[in-house]
Amino acid sequence: MPERFPASLQQKIEDRLRYYEDLGIRLFYTDRGPGGATLIAPEPIASASSPPPVIEENVLPKPTTKPARAKVAPVAPPPPLVVPPTGPSLFETMEKVKNETLLKIRGDLGECTRCKLHKGRNKIVFGDGNPKAELVFVGEGPGADEDAQGLPFVGRAGKLLTQMIEAMGLQRKDVYICNVVKCRPPENRAPEPDEVTACSPFLIRQIDSIHPKVIVCLGATAAKTILNTTRGISQFRGEWLEWRGHKLMATYHPAYLLRNPPAKADVWKDLQKVMAELGLQLPKKSKS
Ligand code: SF4
Repeated sequence: MPERFPASLQQKIEDRLRYYEDLGIRLFYTDRGPGGATLIAPEPIASASSPPPVIEENVLPKPTTKPARAKVAPVAPPPPLVVPPTGPSLFETMEKVKNETLLKIRGDLGECTRCKLHKGRNKIVFGDGNPKAELVFVGEGPGADEDAQGLPFVGRAGKLLTQMIEAMGLQRKDVYICNVVKCRPPENRAPEPDEVTACSPFLIRQIDSIHPKVIVCLGATAAKTILNTTRGISQFRGEWLEWRGHKLMATYHPAYLLRNPPAKADVWKDLQKVMAELGLQLPKKSKS
């Protein structure tokens, strides 16, 4: 407790506290040196005859004491990108065939009935483009337009892919475009594991035959299937990965961009990385 003051000093203090109280100031701190600070609350000073003001002690942390820090739970580092995390798939283990050509692979595929997707298809969509392309795009599977024409990415999403390719300074004939499965899944559903298993040897042979510098997976299904991972595409989109000796990058599917145009900026960033890898320059704008 504070020491009692002489009566004259006590009166001066009461007068001063009353003055501050009139101003609306009701709490005071006084430095007590190394022992800390004292909070003084001048409770009602009714009159000079009133008992001494109530002095309430509230010892603050000593100046030498370090402020206590809220404990923050340690943030676990993101898991390393293991491809594939669930064990090697056919995509990793299938041996390369020597002297492959796309023509031979197409011949081996024939009028394929290796999986149930053959029942609903109109045309097999084998793939299209430059057999010596440095860049291969891999999608999920044909849609209605592709099924009708027998060509990959020819619908609305395909037109957007064409624009993306041209924005990179290339033409469709410069790249190769194909899908994980070559027949249209009903209702455009994702291919099922048995269908992927049946069809993927042909995709692997196509890519091995082309031997591109870069593979771009379009969309979650293609990326997760090829990489044999259950991780969401947003976790590895735009990152360089290695797959069967090729550099591989996953990005969003053009159909997703039609539904979500702001994601085009992310895809363009990814494609610029691909351009840098291939030594491509941004096309110069023509003077009009
Ligand atoms: S999806 Fe592939 S494996 Fe299945 S029937 Fe078509 S070509 Fe054959």
